Amino acid sequence: MSAAFDPDGHNVPDDLVIFDLDDTLLDTSRGLRAARRRILETAFPGCERGQLVRAAVAWRATTLLYGDDRLHELLGVVAMVADLPLDRSLDWEGLRADYRRWQVGLTRPRTPVLLAARALKADGKGLAIVSNGEAGHQWEKIRRTGLDSLADAELIVVCDGRTLPLKPSPVAIHQVIRAAAARRAVLVGDRMTDVVAARLAGIPVVQIRSRGAEVERGVPLRRLTKPDILADSAGCYDAVTRVLDGRT
Ligand SMILES: [Mg+2]
Repeated sequence: MSAAFDPDGHNVPDDLVIFDLDDTLLDTSRGLRAARRRILETAFPGCERGQLVRAAVAWRATTLLYGDDRLHELLGVVAMVADLPLDRSLDWEGLRADYRRWQVGLTRPRTPVLLAARALKADGKGLAIVSNGEAGHQWEKIRRTGLDSLADAELIVVCDGRTLPLKPSPVAIHQVIRAAAARRAVLVGDRMTDVVAARLAGIPVVQIRSRGAEVERGVPLRRLTKPDILADSAGCYDAVTRVLDGRT
């Protein structure tokens, strides 16, 4: 696909490929599970491995009730349903900081998707990243894994739910399409949140299979709305080029 030049001499791509971050460009779920194991070992000292596995299952099931920012309340539910004694004398602020540091430290790029992104960029496509989350945390992961070199700064957008509405709102998607002045766009993500956001934005969507560490919001919508292509991470490049070429 060719790229045009605007009157100011900037490279204006015809096509913009907008990537989700967590469990699309980054493998965050493995690090999240490992960080949770460390937290559970601290919060439930002396518990056996089987008990900690039960607690990890309970944590995953509790994620729609309490986010990880409410660690104290969340682990109270885990203690109750897994029937384990919670160490209530913990330094919760310190534990939250450790949890975040461990997660970031254990986050890795999802190599097949990153390679697809680089190949699409080499083809002349514009790239953008639109991610839900706390801005400081998301940017820490982006910088640590070098993803900030993938797209221009104005095309990397974190929806924090305050300054920008969270996906599935299409606001951030429209924002990066406008900023890139692209004629066509496609969203690549792993969750129903991404599928619904793309549909609301009026653009096609490639859903990449992933194994998230949290219960997924909006899962029942799977029966009602589908991505243009559901692909494994290794099929990302082909899926995106097929969607942009109208070969779905
Ligand atoms: Mg994701």
